[in-house]
Amino acid sequence: MRFYRPTWAEVNLANLAHNFRQIKKMISPQTKIMVTVKADAYGHGLIPVAKKVVSCGADFLGVASVDEGIKIRVGGINIPVLVLGAILKKDIPPVLNYNLTPTICDEDFSLALNRLAGKRNKKVNVHIKVDTGMGRVGVMPQEAERMVEKINKLHFINIEGIFTHLASADTDKDFTFYQIDIFNQLIQRLRNKGIAVPLIHSANSIGTINYKNSHFNMVRPGLVIYGLYPKKGLKINLKAVLSLKTKVVFIKRVPAGYSISYGRTYFTKKPTTIVTIPIGYGDGYPRNLSNRGPVLIKGRCFKICGRICMDQIMVDVGDLNVKIGDEAVLIGNQGRKRICAEELAELAETIPYDIVCGLGNRIPRIYT
Ligand SMILES: *Cc1c(COP(=O)(O)O)cnc(C)c1O
Repeated sequence: MRFYRPTWAEVNLANLAHNFRQIKKMISPQTKIMVTVKADAYGHGLIPVAKKVVSCGADFLGVASVDEGIKIRVGGINIPVLVLGAILKKDIPPVLNYNLTPTICDEDFSLALNRLAGKRNKKVNVHIKVDTGMGRVGVMPQEAERMVEKINKLHFINIEGIFTHLASADTDKDFTFYQIDIFNQLIQRLRNKGIAVPLIHSANSIGTINYKNSHFNMVRPGLVIYGLYPKKGLKINLKAVLSLKTKVVFIKRVPAGYSISYGRTYFTKKPTTIVTIPIGYGDGYPRNLSNRGPVLIKGRCFKICGRICMDQIMVDVGDLNVKIGDEAVLIGNQGRKRICAEELAELAETIPYDIVCGLGNRIPRIYT
C-alpha cells in the first residue's frame, strides 16, 4: 500500500491468532466461537481480521448491520454471519441475497422474512434475541416463549439460535447471574415445549473469561480477540494487535514562554524543542487527550503539548536530539516503553473499544 502521510496503524495478525487460541483454551471443545467483527473489526480492518479468525477456526462472525455482512461476503468469506442489530423489513432482500443470518426481535419482521424467503423457496436461519436486562434490541423474556413458538411454525424460517446480551458483566456479578438465570429459565421452558434451539449464546469477552455459565454452546468475544482488556485483572494472557505510529515531520526550537496550538493552553517553561506529528482528532485520536496524551519518541515517553488539532499534534521533547522522520508511537511499543489503548482510554475518560473503533479511514492499516 502506498501512502504519503507517515501515519499508519500496524495490525499484528499473529497476535490476533494468539488471542483466539487463548480464548479457545478457556472454553469447552464443543463450544463454538463467534468472533465479533463489527465496526470494521473494532477498527482493525474487517476483511483481514475476518480471514485470519476464519483460518484459526472461528465458527461464526458477528456484525452490527447488513452492510457489514455484505462486505464480508464480497470479501469472499463464506462462514455464517450473524447480524446482531435489528434490521428493517425493507432490508430483507440483501439478507437473503448474501446469505446473512438475521437477529429476530419481533414477530412482524419474522412474518415478512418468511414471506420473502418463501418466494425464493429458501429456508433461512435466524437467531432470536432475548432482552434479559440490557434494555436494547430483543424480545422480553415473558413474551419470548410465545414468539418462538409462533416463529417455529413458519415454513421458511429455521430457528438456529437464541441469544441474549450481558449488560454489566464487568461490574455487577449479581445482575449477570440474574440475566443468565432468566435466560436459562426461558431455554428450559422452550425445551419443555419440545423446542430445542441448536445454538444458545450470551457471552461477550468478560462473560467468556469470567462466567463459564454464560457460555452455553457458543461465545461471542470481541475486544479480547483484539488483545485488549475490557477490565483490569482478567486472568488471560493477551497480546495487543494494533499499534498506532507516525513520524516527526517538523522540528523547531522555541524560547521560554512560547505558546503552543489553539487557545494557547500550553506555554514552554524554558527554551525547548517542539515537534509536530501528522495525526489529529480528524483521525479519531481523542481531542480530550490535549496536554495529556503520551507519545514515544526515541524510546522515551513525552506528553502532547497544547490542543490536539484536526490533523496535527505537537510534542515538547525538551532537549532531545530528534530528526525529521523519527518514529513516534501513540499506541504500541518503542524500545522498552509501551503505550496501550487501555491507558489512553483511561486518560480520555472512555473505554478501549472507543479508542480503537474511533481510528478513522484516513489511517492506513498495515498487516504484519
Ligand atoms: C459487541 C458485542 C459483543 C462483543 O462484546 P465484547 O465486549 O467486545 O466482547 C457480543 N455480543 C453482542 C451482541 C455485541 O453487540
